[in-house]
Amino acid sequence: MIRRMLEAFQRSEDTPLEFDERYNVGKRIEARKRHHHDRLHESWQDENRQVISQLKALLERPKAMQYYDDLFTTETRLRELEKAKKAGTRIIGTFCNMVPEELIYAAGAIPLRLCSGCSHALKCGEEAFPRDSCSLIKSSLGFAVAHAPFLSLCDAVVIPGTCDGKKKLGEVLNAYVKVWMIELPQDKERTNAKRFWLGEVRILKGRLERLTRRKIDRKSLLSTIGLLRKRYDVIRRLHEIRRSVPSKISGSDAFMVIQAAFFDDVTRWTAETVRLCAELEGGHGIKEDSVRLLVTGSPIIMPNFKIPIIIEGFDAVIAMDETCAGSEYMYDPVELDEGTMQDMMNAIAERYLMPSMCPCFVKSEDRIDKLLDFVEQYRIDGVIYHTQRLCLLFDIESMKVRDVMEHNAVPFLSINTDYSKEDLGQLRTRIEAFIEIIHSRR
Ligand code: SF4
Ligand code: SF4
Repeated sequence: MIRRMLEAFQRSEDTPLEFDERYNVGKRIEARKRHHHDRLHESWQDENRQVISQLKALLERPKAMQYYDDLFTTETRLRELEKAKKAGTRIIGTFCNMVPEELIYAAGAIPLRLCSGCSHALKCGEEAFPRDSCSLIKSSLGFAVAHAPFLSLCDAVVIPGTCDGKKKLGEVLNAYVKVWMIELPQDKERTNAKRFWLGEVRILKGRLERLTRRKIDRKSLLSTIGLLRKRYDVIRRLHEIRRSVPSKISGSDAFMVIQAAFFDDVTRWTAETVRLCAELEGGHGIKEDSVRLLVTGSPIIMPNFKIPIIIEGFDAVIAMDETCAGSEYMYDPVELDEGTMQDMMNAIAERYLMPSMCPCFVKSEDRIDKLLDFVEQYRIDGVIYHTQRLCLLFDIESMKVRDVMEHNAVPFLSINTDYSKEDLGQLRTRIEAFIEIIHSRR
C-alpha cells in the first residue's frame, strides 16, 4: 500500500480509491449466491427471445439482424469468454460509457459492459440494494448476487461514480468482485476537471497493467485505438443511414445492434455491422409514412424494450436516440494529434469525458444542443423523454428539455417507468395519443 502510494506520488498521480475489506461478510454473500443461483443467464436469454419474437411480429427486419438475434439467445459468446478466461485472459466489467475500452484492450483484457435490462435479475438485486432505486442498478447487481454470467466472469469491474446509485453500487458490488471506482468531475469544462479526469484515466491504466501484468505501451495503445476506430466508423455509417426518410432500420433494431457491442467480439461485431449497413444501404426500408421520433433520457437496455416496442408498434419509428446505451455509446472516436503516449492518453481522456451527455454533470446545455441538432438532422417530428423511475438526475433535466422543445415547437412527451410490465396499458395509451396528435398535425 505504502509502496503504491510512493510510486503514485513519484508519477505525480493521486492514489486510487480503494475499498477496505474490513468486515467479514463473506459467508452471507456465499449464502446469497447459493440461494439465488437460479439460471439467471438463461432467464436473460428467455427475455431476449421474447423481445425478438415481438420485434419479428411487428416489423420486417433486415436479414443481417439474425446475427444479433443469435448473439442474444445462444451460448456462443459465453463459451468464447469462458475459453478466453481459462486461457488466462482477464475480463473487465464496465458500467456507463465513460470507461476507456482502448486501455482494457491494450492491456490484453476483454471489456464487458454490464448495464442490464433483465427484469428477472431485479429480485436478486433487491437482496443487496434498496427496492426504491433505479432498475438498471438493481438488475445489473442481481447478476453478482446470483453469481451469474457475464458478471461472474469478471476479474474486476470499473464503475464511474455518476449518480448516487452508481457510487454506492461500487461499495456493494465490491463484496462480490473487485471494484475500481473512477471519480468524475462535476463540470467537464473546467481546466482542473480535465486534469483530474486524466489522473483517473492514468490510475485505471496502472490498475489494468498490474492486473494483467502487461504494460500498456505506445504500440499496443495505438493498435487498440485503431481497432475501436473501425467500430466507430461503422456505427457512424449506421447513424448516417438512420437519417433516411423513410427509415431503413427501426430504433429497436438499432438499440440491439449497438448493445451487442457491449459483450461481443469487437472485430466480429464490426464485420457483421458492416454487412448490416450494406444491406440497409442496398434498399431495406420500413414504414413509409411513420412519425419520426427521437428518444432520449435514461438508457433503454435489452431485454427491457417495452418503450421501443410500444412506439414502433404504432405508426412511428425511433429515427434516432440520445441515450448512453444507444447512439451515445460510440458516437465519438478518439482523435489523435502526434500519436505519442502522452497525446494518446490525453485524447482518450478527452474522448470519454467531453462528449458524455450523462446528466451527472452540473450543466446540461451541451446535451440540449445535441438534442436540437438531432431534431434537425434526423427530421424528428417529436421527442419522447424516458426517465428511469427513481432516477432524479434524468427527471430534473426533463423539465428543461421540455421547455426548450416546446419553445421550439417540437412535440414532447415525458415518460417515467421501470422494468415492470404493470404500466404497459397506460404507456400504450399515452404513446398512441402522442403519435396520433403528431399525425393529425402533419
Ligand atoms: S446515464 Fe450516465 S449514469 Fe446512467 S448509465 Fe448512462 S452513463 Fe451511466
Ligand atoms: S438511470 Fe439514473 S439512477 Fe439509474 S444509473 Fe443512470 S443516472 Fe443512475
